[in-house]
Amino acid sequence: MIHLYYSDSFQAYNFGPEHPFNPARLMLAYRLMEEEGSIDERTCKIEPQPASEADLERVHTVEYIAAVQAEETDLAFGLGSDDTPVFPGIYEASRLLAGGSIDAARRIVVEDGMAFNIGGGLHHAMPSNASGFCVFDDPALAISVLKERFERVLYIDIDGHHGDGVQQIFYEDPDVLTISMHESGLYLFPGTGFVDEIGSGPGIGYSANVPMPMYSGDEEYSRAFEEIVPRLFDWFEPQAVVAQLGVDTHYSDPLTSLNMTLSGYTQLVARIIDLTGKYANGRLLALGGGGYNMEVVPVAWSSVLHLMRNEKPHEYLPPYWVEFFMNLVGREPLSPPDIDIKVGNETKKRITAELDRSLQGLKENINGIYDVF
Ligand SMILES: [Zn+2]
Repeated sequence: MIHLYYSDSFQAYNFGPEHPFNPARLMLAYRLMEEEGSIDERTCKIEPQPASEADLERVHTVEYIAAVQAEETDLAFGLGSDDTPVFPGIYEASRLLAGGSIDAARRIVVEDGMAFNIGGGLHHAMPSNASGFCVFDDPALAISVLKERFERVLYIDIDGHHGDGVQQIFYEDPDVLTISMHESGLYLFPGTGFVDEIGSGPGIGYSANVPMPMYSGDEEYSRAFEEIVPRLFDWFEPQAVVAQLGVDTHYSDPLTSLNMTLSGYTQLVARIIDLTGKYANGRLLALGGGGYNMEVVPVAWSSVLHLMRNEKPHEYLPPYWVEFFMNLVGREPLSPPDIDIKVGNETKKRITAELDRSLQGLKENINGIYDVF
């Protein structure tokens, strides 16, 4: 059984019409899942409840929670920046997204299985400040719940941006291995996630970062994943996995400079599902995250649900949904499979050389602590 977390009230997490984090992508994704027949006796839709204050305190400071509740600009807490403006109802809306991931984690604690909170994945939020469109760090909250039963939880983040909040929250914790693959911090927000960030104190060796060169595509992502991720699963032997599945790695994404296609993305997701089946008895909590091209996100996340259901993503989009999309968005959605992006030979050489250095550096740094690679 897969628990799929979605509420029309997710639409309330809205930073305004000019902001890229458009909540309509969640509604469009859910409608597509429905239209494709993926919400049935094998996939149970759950209407999330807002996270309680006590649950938020698992990760966040009391002062920060109070500041969000006040719903006023307070830059000391990261509230009211251009990226993360304050809006009426921000506390309730943020609690609802977090509540979905927390409840999903509790279900995995009690009954195993898989869950997907398409409204989750807010990986930049820190214990005492908002950052990069993220108010409460639902991946970290969910991990803290999973830790009640499981000794080792693996977090893997394939969003285009570094999963800095989750990494920082568990930086000294050897029971949580965080892996983030993202466009290098040399070029992109939040400017962190380099190969020398491997954890500290008792957590040293339990953070892994794969900074991807600008214009990396399916080939580079697949190579980096296969060289690093399976080995880390094998070494760490996780009992549960949390995956942040942001799709802002797509070539059409307005916020990043990466060149992934939908099929490259779904192949990575399929590998994460495989590895979770092999090592963690299939206990997977999938979360949404970034993805700022409305034409891509719903198709990507409905494909994730197909893969979780052990089905092939559909090759054609249902006509009724396409019409619904066009009426709302004013253009056609991206229909799979999308084009394969080619870069010039010189660019390819530069990308390969930079990726070689990153992978080598990451392996050396981790091997300096544990014999992993
Ligand atoms: Zn992102």
